[in-house]
Amino acid sequence: MTDEKTLQNVLIMVTDISELYHSKNQMEYLASYDTLTNLPNRALLFNQLKQSIASMARKKSRGMLIFIDIDHFKEFNDNYGHQIGDKVLLTVAKQIQSICREEDILGRLSGDEFLLISEDIDNQNAIQMIIHKIQSIFKRPQQIANLSLHVTISMGIALYPANGQTPESLINAADQAMYSVKKSGRNNYAFYSQEMSNIANEYFFIQNALKDAINAENFSLVYQPQYAIDDHSITGIEVLLRCTHSRISTVPIERLIKIAEETGNIKQISYIVLNMVCDQLYAWEIQGFKVPPLAVNLSRKELYADNLILTIHNALSRYKLQPHALELEITESAFLYESDMVIDNIKRLKKLGHTFAIDDYGTGFSSLSNIKTFHFDKLKIDKSFIDNLQTYEEDQVIVSATISMAKKLGLKVIAEGVEIQEQADILQRFGCDIIQGFLYSKPLTKEEMEKLLIEKV
Ligand code: C2E
Ligand code: CA
Ligand code: CA
Repeated sequence: MTDEKTLQNVLIMVTDISELYHSKNQMEYLASYDTLTNLPNRALLFNQLKQSIASMARKKSRGMLIFIDIDHFKEFNDNYGHQIGDKVLLTVAKQIQSICREEDILGRLSGDEFLLISEDIDNQNAIQMIIHKIQSIFKRPQQIANLSLHVTISMGIALYPANGQTPESLINAADQAMYSVKKSGRNNYAFYSQEMSNIANEYFFIQNALKDAINAENFSLVYQPQYAIDDHSITGIEVLLRCTHSRISTVPIERLIKIAEETGNIKQISYIVLNMVCDQLYAWEIQGFKVPPLAVNLSRKELYADNLILTIHNALSRYKLQPHALELEITESAFLYESDMVIDNIKRLKKLGHTFAIDDYGTGFSSLSNIKTFHFDKLKIDKSFIDNLQTYEEDQVIVSATISMAKKLGLKVIAEGVEIQEQADILQRFGCDIIQGFLYSKPLTKEEMEKLLIEKV
């Protein structure tokens, strides 16, 4: 007897779907890739650009889009036939891909147009590097099927987020830039606007001049005194760098420092500064001047240098100067990436006897825990909070809260960029200790500083 509910037979149907799977994949592939070059096609590029933009927006990073168009492509087709035309396209695609970073995306937009998406481009230097690498490919003729063909390209560059924040607007900007190259003779590149293009050229110019300035040590120092708010005595002097190289002497020093950071020349600059500072300290010492501590700016990038301590130590020990003669100013951004090297350098320099001031306080990433752990000595409130202190109540709240917080942590407070008496009065009321700014003194030359030292100290 059989129980009706018992399973008697099982019918298994097996269908080979591998072909279906294959053809589905094939369809997907065809919808997204260009069959000649195997690069992403317009549809996929568009999607990838959209994703890149979203990711850069999240990270607040910058990117670049290059629109690449082969010059006179039609002539290859007309003169040598379509097969050679295809080979030209393949060669261009392969060559450009060979110099791309792994994370860059190269795709074929249509016909002889390609698009290169580069995410997270954080400086002009990286932009120039990619452009010059691509350009160098097309300086020599390409070997294509027994032919030696001179292929050149025109490139239009759009920057995210400056030139557009959607795939459409960025592609459009890069396209326009490319078009301007075609109009002005091809085989070149252009940024979306003339302004951008000027900036890039200027950047190159400054970068080269700065290298010359470093080699020739074309630098000088100026000195800005810091005054005790109550008795107006000079408690310290900030040393500020000036470049004396004729081609870039009018470029703001901040800009030169930033470029030096990007090109890796900052270590040479700090070496020059530290040695000039110690030369001057020693000269003043033997002339009998009583000099308060000199505050030297250290770039965030310098704090990553493994030889920073040695550079400072050597500069001081040439003249047997004491570490407390040099106060070190570092900005909050030094702690942006918690690096063991930075932490170690700061701890060791503190132990040696250097005092530290947190510069530009309030403009960056403020971590109270860092200030507490490192036992910094001074906190410099950024000029941007001082500028409107007399009019903005909000700034008054921030400044007074910052001062009381700093005091509780045992730090002295310097207000930077004080230009008018009203600001000084408010700062005094809030309990600020030291004032630095044009109200009392602009940065001074060595001679002017000496005169002041005679009068004041
Ligand atoms: P910083 O460290 O914040 O230096 C203070 C800047 O504010 C100086 O500009 C100074 O001249 C200016 N300043 C002071 N008081 C006033 C004021 O009342 N009104 C106005 N409008 N400005 C005032 P400077 O000399 O152009 O330096 C700019 C920046 O360049 C510095 O900002 C610092 O970040 C960097 N820098 C200068 N020298 C060096 C250096 O030797 N090494 C490094 N790494 N950076 C340096
Ligand atoms: Ca400073
Ligand atoms: Ca500052």
